[in-house]
Amino acid sequence: MNDQAIFQRLLALVEQYYARRKEGKFLDYLEPQALAETLELERQAPGDWQQLFQWMEKYLTHSVKTGNHGFVNRMWSGANLPSIMGEIITAVTNTSACTYEAAPVSTLMEHYMLNRMLELVGFRQGEGQMTTGSSNGNMIAMLAARNQAASEAKEKGLFNGPSLTAFVSADAHYSLDKAANILGLGTDNLIKVPVDERGRMRPDSLEQLLEEQQAQGRKAFFVCATLGTTVRGAYDPLPPLLELRKEHGFWLHGDGAWGGAALLDDELRQRYLPGVEQLDSFTWDFHKMPGSNLMCNLLLFNHHKGTLRCACSAGEHSYLFREEHEDAELDTGTASLQCGRRVDSLKWFLDWKYYGREGLAQRVRHYLALCEYAESRIESLPQLEMTASRESFNVCFRFLPPSGMDANDFNLKLRHRLFEEGISLVGVAFIGNTLTLRLLITHPDFREEDVDRFLQSVIDMGARLLHE
Ligand SMILES: *Cc1c(COP(=O)(O)O)cnc(C)c1O
Repeated sequence: MNDQAIFQRLLALVEQYYARRKEGKFLDYLEPQALAETLELERQAPGDWQQLFQWMEKYLTHSVKTGNHGFVNRMWSGANLPSIMGEIITAVTNTSACTYEAAPVSTLMEHYMLNRMLELVGFRQGEGQMTTGSSNGNMIAMLAARNQAASEAKEKGLFNGPSLTAFVSADAHYSLDKAANILGLGTDNLIKVPVDERGRMRPDSLEQLLEEQQAQGRKAFFVCATLGTTVRGAYDPLPPLLELRKEHGFWLHGDGAWGGAALLDDELRQRYLPGVEQLDSFTWDFHKMPGSNLMCNLLLFNHHKGTLRCACSAGEHSYLFREEHEDAELDTGTASLQCGRRVDSLKWFLDWKYYGREGLAQRVRHYLALCEYAESRIESLPQLEMTASRESFNVCFRFLPPSGMDANDFNLKLRHRLFEEGISLVGVAFIGNTLTLRLLITHPDFREEDVDRFLQSVIDMGARLLHE
């Protein structure tokens, strides 16, 4: 096959996949062994495009169709079409977004988009970067805070420095624990602040813990407010945390990986993110609610330019970065922990231009309205119950089995059967000791009928399991 024929066949294949992603099941489930046999992983194919195409077709056939309405499992689904086009272009041009020299267009698009986001959040000074996701965004924020609190940490390590403690809510994302491990703090020194009955960090508890730590001679250097928790969708209250920062001087970071999308709409911003413009740093995944292809993250700093670069750069890298160049200022790699960097800017730029802020805001409002609808349906259906009242974009609920039956086991089994039968893939988590199903809606064309169909499928499966 010549290149042209290969491209044509590929485009026909992906076009067909895309057109049919919403039809039928989201997955024809195979057990790992059966799938391994189907994939013929050991088969050789030197120079054999026919065989490569068979693998590509198998990949498409046996992958989870995340764009199918049965997929309500994660904080993303499918992907925006402009973004998909961007990824294709990124693949054929294949460069590393670290220097202007090697990636001129991407560099300018990344800066352009980061500047739009700095404006959107309202950071008057500052800078940003695209990272590999909010997990890394959270870590880099903690790193910058650490280096500020322990000014010798970058060169000398933490061995003889002050003993540092960081704080997150008990419902925060596990990436903060990972960051505490990686940065040499130790996970025990990441203190989990209790949450209130709605899942929000309790400022009074934080204050008490800050005082306790300081009384022990330890330096409380970093507080992460989760802005949309992973399970319940709770937003930690920023105004009281900002007040505490005045007194205690910690770095206040906002993990808006999921809930940062509320920024797109003025009213939702007021409701969920009051004071966000005063944070020290903020991270948000554009690959979640806004629907760009994975991965698409932004990390913003509300500090003078160079803070990010100072935190992340180390070592001799003059073979790559030429600081005497006029465009050296533009190089994104010197402020990054990576050397090779995927181009994530093009897909983001194309989505932003195609939908605009208002288009994406409408999407976020639509998701919220559907969550409200789902909650009201669940409350009126006798077979279902909410496991926590809804805070924002997460709907936590479960099937109510007859008394005497273990509701956790039952719901876990129910969820697994929905998956195996290709009906739906829905999230599962614990709130305290209660196992909860977690509906997250991130399909732009989801409607109330889709919510109804999904809830009915849970009810039908529950009834089936009871009769088995
Ligand atoms: C998804 C999520 C993360 C992790 O983000 P990645 O981009 O997947 O690394 C962090 N924090 C919160 C609150 C999240 O919802």
